[in-house]
Amino acid sequence: MENTSDTNSNKAAGMVVAIDGPSASGKSTNARMVAAALGYWHVDTGAMFRTLSWYCLKEGVNPEDPAAVEKLCDQWPAELKAEQGRVFLTVDGYEPAKEIREESTSAIVSKVASVPKVREWMKLTQRECARFGSLVMEGRDIGTHIFPDTPYKFYLQASLEERNRRRAAEGVNEDLSARDKMDSGRKVAPLKIANGAVVLDNTGQTPEQSRDRILAEIQRIQSGL
Ligand code: C5P
Repeated sequence: MENTSDTNSNKAAGMVVAIDGPSASGKSTNARMVAAALGYWHVDTGAMFRTLSWYCLKEGVNPEDPAAVEKLCDQWPAELKAEQGRVFLTVDGYEPAKEIREESTSAIVSKVASVPKVREWMKLTQRECARFGSLVMEGRDIGTHIFPDTPYKFYLQASLEERNRRRAAEGVNEDLSARDKMDSGRKVAPLKIANGAVVLDNTGQTPEQSRDRILAEIQRIQSGL
């Protein structure tokens, strides 16, 4: 896999802010805002699993067949790109940004993400993102498996009612509890609170309030308090 990057002198190498949590817990909004505030790269690892899931559908690979998914993952033409503040995957040079949010992809992504060799591929690729500089990386296992040594670990949560409301406001009708259950119950790298993670419940908060809590916690950790 080849990597390409644009130049951005603000992005010093080395720091990782890990943000985990269930679906619609505000990870993407917060990760994007925190990355912008700190001048770090934003990495949405859910989008990476979604990209592979989209590719399975495109190539006619059965997501219920782990051996077939593994084989595809072993040889797919994926490449990391870093542009406009984001690090993301392209396939044959194409970023399927819209397609990966479609119901057909959401319906299979947790299945694809439960394949051990897929997780191994994603772990290596997600760790490789650090070559671009400091990162705010969001997902389900960033603090537990991808960058367990970072001191900046967050676990976001919100009530199921509020999370369903957020998705509905985006025009997405999905049973979030089913995906949460699969993500928390899988054998390899399940969703759980990392050791030492700061747990923040953002039910009823604005994105700005939630972002500011994360930034304040980062400052607190940096100052060693
Ligand atoms: O964050 P998002 O909802 O886009 O993630 C889609 C799915 O990708 C999750 O439900 C989960 O199955 C998988 N995922 C994962 N580990 C990550 C990020 C996402 O298993 N670090």
